[in-house]
Amino acid sequence: MEKIFVTKPFLPPQAEYERQLTRIYQNHQLTNQGPLLCELEEKLGKFLNVKHFQYVTNGTIALQLALEALDIQDGEVITTPFSYVATTSSILWQRCKPVFVDIEPHNFTIDPDKIEAAVTAKTRAIMPVHVFGYACNVEKIQQIADKHGLKVIYDAAHAFGSVYKGRALADYGDVSTLSFHATKLFHTVEGGACVVKDETVNKKLDLIKRFGHNKDEHYLLGINGKQSEFHAAMGLAVLPHLPEIIAARKRVCERYDKLLAGAVGRPAVQKELEYNYAYYPVVFKNEAELLRVFDALAKENIFARRYFYPSLNTLPYLKEKTACPLSEDICSRIACLPLYPALQDHDILRITNTVKGALL
Ligand SMILES: *Cc1c(COP(=O)(O)O)cnc(C)c1O
Repeated sequence: MEKIFVTKPFLPPQAEYERQLTRIYQNHQLTNQGPLLCELEEKLGKFLNVKHFQYVTNGTIALQLALEALDIQDGEVITTPFSYVATTSSILWQRCKPVFVDIEPHNFTIDPDKIEAAVTAKTRAIMPVHVFGYACNVEKIQQIADKHGLKVIYDAAHAFGSVYKGRALADYGDVSTLSFHATKLFHTVEGGACVVKDETVNKKLDLIKRFGHNKDEHYLLGINGKQSEFHAAMGLAVLPHLPEIIAARKRVCERYDKLLAGAVGRPAVQKELEYNYAYYPVVFKNEAELLRVFDALAKENIFARRYFYPSLNTLPYLKEKTACPLSEDICSRIACLPLYPALQDHDILRITNTVKGALL
């Protein structure tokens, strides 16, 4: 029986990737803002219809660059406990303190009504996550940020291709960061990006992602956030396939919807959101049910993933522990089912039958 994992990276036809590689061999420029990278940057910026778009090494460096470019080097950053660990670790790496605000139960994004109670004199920014590609309450979050003079950095690692109220979901906040890791909806093997609102911040980010210097003039403390031509080549080869990738994912999600209707919990997605079908999370009654389903799936050679587990407010290396009961509860019983364009109808049927057969 063929193994089915939660995701399977999309590979473009090899000839299309090789065509891009040939360009690198001709140019003989391998990195440092080469022509392929510039072309990809422009195309992605156009696709999202944003003004300042910077393609960087990965989604984690993108978060760190965003914090540094916005001058957030200490103080508190309000964030969500329901995400991949990079959201929290980027805050800690920047020597800031993550302050966790619990999630709302419908789409698992940060609960905007609980943010203000967490604001202190030390709060510098809010870092919410458009988790699974669902939209945070961007209006309320911006209102709170404006009222308290805070920056907003969206971890939009899951949001590429989602459109909210006619605008790319990755175009909200002071900076939105993206991940183009192999497991994400659109990928460049490894890669990430920052969408920046303000021109001055954009210039700073551009400088600090390449060591903070220009020739022999050193202006600011920087890091290496540059991406290579070979990664850009993969991006250029994958990008034309994006519409078919999203359409194929939509088809898989709709089959899941039909076959699992009523059997598992599902998020409620806002009407104004054009969803990118990045993930298919399902919520079980309790952790025991989740573990039963995982056992049954594993016997069928199907490997779902606990996205996300554990709740980030419980990370062992945090100095201070705060309770986020909703997130902790959801984390204990949520998982993502396999979702990728090549997933066949008979696989979907096998997955859904196994899930339903193992429910309590
Ligand atoms: C994948 C991911 C990241 C990190 O992206 P990398 O490109 O792997 O560094 C950050 N935040 C979230 C929510 C992610 O899912």
